[in-house]
Amino acid sequence: MAKSKVSIKDFESKEGQLVKLDQSRFLPLPPPYDKLELEPKFNELAPEKKERLECDLDGVTAFKFPRPETEEEKQELVEKFLAGLQKLFQKENNWTFLQPLFLTMEYCVKCQTCASACPIFNESGQEEIYRPTFRSDIMRRLYKKYVKSGGKIFAKLSGNDINASWTMVARLMELCYRCTICRRCAQTCPIGADNGLVTRELRKIFSQEMGITVTPLHEKGSMQQLKVGSSTGMSTVAYLDNIEFLEEEVEERAGMKFKWPMDKEGADILLIHNAGEFLAWPENPEAFAIILEAAGINYTLSSEAIGYDSVNYGTWYDDMQFARVALRHVEVAKKLGVKKIVIAECGHAHKALTVIADRVLTGDFNIPRESSMTLLRDIIKSGRLKLDPSRNDDITVTLHDPCNMVRLMGIVQPQRDVLKAVCNNFREMTPHGVENYCCGGGSGFAITQDLNFPDWRQIVSGRAKLRQILDVFQDIIEPEHKKYVCAPCSNCKGAMRDMFAAYGLFDRCNILYGGLVELIVNAMPEIEEPFLEWDWR
Ligand code: SF4
Ligand code: SF4
Repeated sequence: MAKSKVSIKDFESKEGQLVKLDQSRFLPLPPPYDKLELEPKFNELAPEKKERLECDLDGVTAFKFPRPETEEEKQELVEKFLAGLQKLFQKENNWTFLQPLFLTMEYCVKCQTCASACPIFNESGQEEIYRPTFRSDIMRRLYKKYVKSGGKIFAKLSGNDINASWTMVARLMELCYRCTICRRCAQTCPIGADNGLVTRELRKIFSQEMGITVTPLHEKGSMQQLKVGSSTGMSTVAYLDNIEFLEEEVEERAGMKFKWPMDKEGADILLIHNAGEFLAWPENPEAFAIILEAAGINYTLSSEAIGYDSVNYGTWYDDMQFARVALRHVEVAKKLGVKKIVIAECGHAHKALTVIADRVLTGDFNIPRESSMTLLRDIIKSGRLKLDPSRNDDITVTLHDPCNMVRLMGIVQPQRDVLKAVCNNFREMTPHGVENYCCGGGSGFAITQDLNFPDWRQIVSGRAKLRQILDVFQDIIEPEHKKYVCAPCSNCKGAMRDMFAAYGLFDRCNILYGGLVELIVNAMPEIEEPFLEWDWR
């Protein structure tokens, strides 16, 4: 396989599109997708779009950023970028992540252990620009030249000089959206350098200092959430209407008539769903409601703006947006006087509201937060639910480990304990647990639907996950066997929905994806009809 020869020097100076994606160089997939012609094709941007939009990295764009028309505009953008770079290394401007970023800049020993762990680099046939250290080395050179004292002289003497041109900055802007921040690389690094963090911190410069963001994350994500109450655009009124509708649906599907607890002061738990569930996969909040009702848990939902949407997209691109949403989540919980917040099936919301929020929530604001995985495990272990795992015997189940919840938080076993209690045909992917691969939609990719970015996600960033799914079911890949990928994360389900559709996985192989709670309810004998509906969604 011919290796890509692109260097940092090319990145900085070569004109035009730097890399042309060649699908024939990608790692081949297992049957029934073992021939290139059976895969979805990557679509080049139309010539008019190429001319108008910045896309000189690999012909893909996540930003739709118009090319600046004058040299002055370009210079202004470069200066803003360099000012933002300086701020990343000042403790008063980046107290949240300065230390790990600084260590990553200073101590990488260039051993390349991280490269073998990166799904994007490897699945793309080792495309050089996707190597974890390629992005970090550019940032390291910029840091050494433009941030450290005496940097310009050092850069010349070291032979690692770099020139912050607009060509380079524009490519870097796109390159920080070619990494899912899955942090597989950081996990394998012998000295703990974190190339995923470098991606995230670069995104911060573009957002916080230059106002350049990806629309689905910012305008349609964080801003809409702060303004309307949810990143889905669902207002409180629409949310309450939805809940009423879901109550009726639960009565119809499960024969259980009860009101879902709303704004109940002093409850033990405030349960927050990713609001996308209510619209795309309502069976998931329905299943939660059934389980918690049947187990007699004293919990509540909130109808306050942001209190019904656990999404926090700032996690992936902007500290300010992150803090605004995290503080609002806690304010809602404090107003209700609940003992803790439990995060439903959403991986990034887990990390946002627990690990990262720990850096901004201090004193009274630091109220307990827990994963729904441990809550569900505890409910099942307590024996409060009657379960018959044979009710799931017609399907073979595997488990996808969402990166944020598993690799980055260590929540590995609870969901496995649950699965073993509710289904007899469970098998693990290889690798799994903290070694597992990203769904391909991490860090906002699942919701980035503009232009040809979804093509790139389908064929590159989701490829390792697709391979794992095909591998784990290879002996029963024919459509007569029903197969279920349990993905306890809204974002991962979104990525899988698009990937499964692009490859025709449901029609061709009878593989469906879905959450964890649906399997629990499907195993509850008091619910007569199967809860799990075997149709595409
Ligand atoms: S980031 Fe870590 S694993 Fe990667 S090259 Fe540097 S030291 Fe090696
Ligand atoms: S965070 Fe994941 S996608 Fe990004 S460079 Fe590391 S291994 Fe690759």
